Amino acid sequence: QVHESRNMQLLRNQAYINGQWMSANSNCVFPVLNPADDSVITEVPDMDACDAKKAIETASNAFETWKNTTQKERSYVIRKWYDICQKNTDYLAEIITAESGKPLSEAKGEIAYGNSFLEWFADTARHINGEVLTSPWPNKQIMVTRHPVGVVSVITPWNFPFAMITRKVGALMAAGCTCVIKPSEDTPLAALAAAELAEQAGVPKGVINVVTTSRKNAPNVGKIMCEHPDIRCISFTGSTHVGKILYGMAAKGVKRVALELGGNAPFIVFSSADIENALNQAMLAKFRNNGQACVGANRFLIHEDVYDKFVEGFKAYIGKKCILGPGTKEGVTCGPLINDMQAQKVSGLVDDAVKQGAKPLIGGKFSNLGSKFYESTLLVDVKPNMTIYGEEIFGPVAVCLKFKTEEEVVKIANSTNSGLAAYVFTRELGQAFRMSRQLEFGMVAINDGILSAAEPPFGGIKESGIGREGSKHGIEEYTDIKYTLFSGL
Ligand code: ADP
Repeated sequence: QVHESRNMQLLRNQAYINGQWMSANSNCVFPVLNPADDSVITEVPDMDACDAKKAIETASNAFETWKNTTQKERSYVIRKWYDICQKNTDYLAEIITAESGKPLSEAKGEIAYGNSFLEWFADTARHINGEVLTSPWPNKQIMVTRHPVGVVSVITPWNFPFAMITRKVGALMAAGCTCVIKPSEDTPLAALAAAELAEQAGVPKGVINVVTTSRKNAPNVGKIMCEHPDIRCISFTGSTHVGKILYGMAAKGVKRVALELGGNAPFIVFSSADIENALNQAMLAKFRNNGQACVGANRFLIHEDVYDKFVEGFKAYIGKKCILGPGTKEGVTCGPLINDMQAQKVSGLVDDAVKQGAKPLIGGKFSNLGSKFYESTLLVDVKPNMTIYGEEIFGPVAVCLKFKTEEEVVKIANSTNSGLAAYVFTRELGQAFRMSRQLEFGMVAINDGILSAAEPPFGGIKESGIGREGSKHGIEEYTDIKYTLFSGL
């Protein structure tokens, strides 16, 4: 049953290629579900490799003109897109909440965050500069210039279906690149809405293309998006597992990759910490987007002197502040998990830990609201041999462990293949600096639970990824540098 009567102004149910709204060549479609009630919001084209190829060729044509626009012109268009997205916040939010399940207030937060990247890249577009370097030869000069890499494949996840697009597309457009976006099969509608608004903003046709595809077709579409000769860069946010597959395919054509993969963030509380602040930040770091964020706190490591106080406070906060329900309901802070597979994964991790001796102080089970509503959970007595200790949980489950020394906690925190974000709570200045230096993560927050914005570089080390988004580095990802030698001067 398709409920198009929802009257969503920005609902688009066709793919967007070369400035046109299109069906799949095969005419196949797949449903987009609302995770809060399993209703079908709409159906979108289930495109295959053939459709993707067409989109890539379109982007390739558009690149020939877009690359020659001035930085000022590109800045202007991105800024206009920003303005229109800002104006459409309410319409975008209803789409994001419908397909991702997150509360409306969080959907609006995501839009503000996503838009901040458009605003930022509209500015930074005008500051992509080259260098003139000193020459070792008296009659020669060395010039370094930056050039857009070409067509970029943008493959995005469902947890921030709007912001993951603006963060990449704002940057690549500023650099002078064009793109083909393949949004997650769970949340293609935010991408289509963003494309609609880009069109309204005057983004030339072919610069942004959106290919929608089901999970079944994702590997074939992904393959051509990595291997087509016109593609010069693959920008992906998603699981480490899929990231590795794409990286492997990109290697065949020596293509640039920008990978934002899974995290396993430690949240470390030392005995000198302001516990009240640590608790407030813990709620944000863990339960924002119902735990479905790659920078979300995954392991709470608490010093033994403050462990009882922290755990007691955390339990009370969760009991008081986590309100589970459909994202459209006033006052709800935690929505459904995105799909049954994720919900089963989260509950499986908890059940396995409990079987081995972990204790849920609160939650630890599904609520009676439905198969995707998992209660906000606090688990203690977790041991390193439990699966939940080493895996990215990606759900509303906080796991607390006790530590004794700084040396010990650094070791525990770093004992993972991931290296995205880490959170540290301490009032000791030296300790703050030591932690910043010793933690093997791309981002470290001292006394805060939220760290992402357009200004700083977002990204991970180790298996959490390659490259950075936001900041001036976010644009550099999409440019090549060229060295020209002027001789005989
Ligand atoms: P998650 O679902 O946890 O966000 P995934 O890595 O599974 O992480 O999905 C992220 C994106 O990768 C989605 O757009 C999904 O469709 C896409 N994807 C999954 N498998 C492939 C694949 N083999 N090739 C290309 N894209 C893929």
